[in-house]
Amino acid sequence: SSSPDPRDFLDLDAELSAEDRAMRDAVRSYAQDQLLPNIAEWYESGALPAAELAKGFGQLGLLGMHLEGYGCAGTSAVAYGIACRELEAVDSGLRSFVSVQGSLAMYAIHKWGTEEHKQEWLPRMAAGEALGCFGLTEPDAGSDPGSMRTRAVRDGSDWVLSGTKMWITNGTVADVAVVWAQTDEGVRGFVVPTNTPGFTANEVKHKLSLRASLTAELVLDGVRLPDSAAFPEVRGLRGPLSCLNEARYGILFGVVGAARSCYESALEYTLSREQFGKPLAGFQLTQRKLADLVVEVNRAGLVALRIGRLKDAGTLHHNHVSFGKLANVRSALEVARTARGMLGANGISLEYPVMRHMSNLETVLTYEGTEEMHALSLGQSVTGLAAFR
Ligand code: FAD
Repeated sequence: SSSPDPRDFLDLDAELSAEDRAMRDAVRSYAQDQLLPNIAEWYESGALPAAELAKGFGQLGLLGMHLEGYGCAGTSAVAYGIACRELEAVDSGLRSFVSVQGSLAMYAIHKWGTEEHKQEWLPRMAAGEALGCFGLTEPDAGSDPGSMRTRAVRDGSDWVLSGTKMWITNGTVADVAVVWAQTDEGVRGFVVPTNTPGFTANEVKHKLSLRASLTAELVLDGVRLPDSAAFPEVRGLRGPLSCLNEARYGILFGVVGAARSCYESALEYTLSREQFGKPLAGFQLTQRKLADLVVEVNRAGLVALRIGRLKDAGTLHHNHVSFGKLANVRSALEVARTARGMLGANGISLEYPVMRHMSNLETVLTYEGTEEMHALSLGQSVTGLAAFR
């Protein structure tokens, strides 16, 4: 039989259903035509045509795509993962856009919201006509969200929210913010239209990573909401953590795309660039690196696919997701760092995707649970001993 395809060495995509492959092809061709030609400019300027992107993603059915009803596509988890992979092959910021909308904001409303919340927001969000963000992190509460200071207090039947959220993706362009706050009954979630008086979003500037993504500080200064703004049932960190688990699933699939893009770049580059009279790819030291890259990309792809199958089977545990986030982000970063060097000086240029991916992956390592947090989750899972505090 013929030699394995260097771009899908383990032939993992043969494991996909015809539907999943159709999703792959649709996202790939959209990415090729609409995203890839613009990504360097978006990255360099730190600006993103959010409304236009939302419409395009909505038309493709990528927003809340694995949710059921309310205008959502209701695809398999694997199809959602593959879509994340193809978006993140362009840029982690674009995958983040879709993750925050679908897996954080829409998922929170779908899982914990009232029927009115769902009717009001989900169909427009699925279509990309309304954007959402998810406010959990604060300046002084990151890995330990239980220490958040944002508070919601009762005033008659109303709620009044005060506090600051930090590092909130899409905060400056969101129509609705899902905000988590302390109450007398523990942490609760609130659906906050961003035009409510007292709500402001300020852009976070000076980022050297995830530049093709809008990041905000949210200031809640006595934001008054009706009783109906709160998620009725859920109390405590179970609420936000359930959403993060969804988004982390998209990440562990997505980073396979970023890794693949870096590997393909390094492969193409070293095959065509000559030094000492022959292609760089012909040197043993380079081949050692290419072998490492193809192993990491395919191993991460296999981990993602397995976790996707568990999710579709309904047997996925959050510790599986910690495993995948830890393992695959680490692999992708190693691939990006190695590939960066293989392109020499061109490796630091925005003309090639590698340093952009490498820099993005530093954010991906930190958000949605740092590497250390997922290591502690895995440690607790295999030992039965919690070492978080
Ligand atoms: P810290 O928690 O202060 O951690 C700093 C370091 O200390 C890390 O290495 C951490 O692993 C380590 N550490 C902490 N505790 C321990 C411990 N017990 N043992 C050992 N080491 C420990 N948040 C949102 O809510 N919504 C968003 O949309 C969002 N988007 C983001 C977009 C970007 C570009 C970035 C950079 C972040 C985003 N975040 C968002 C925030 C992100 O989730 C947090 O940055 C993350 O949870 C880490 O929190 P922190 O930055 O406060 O770091």
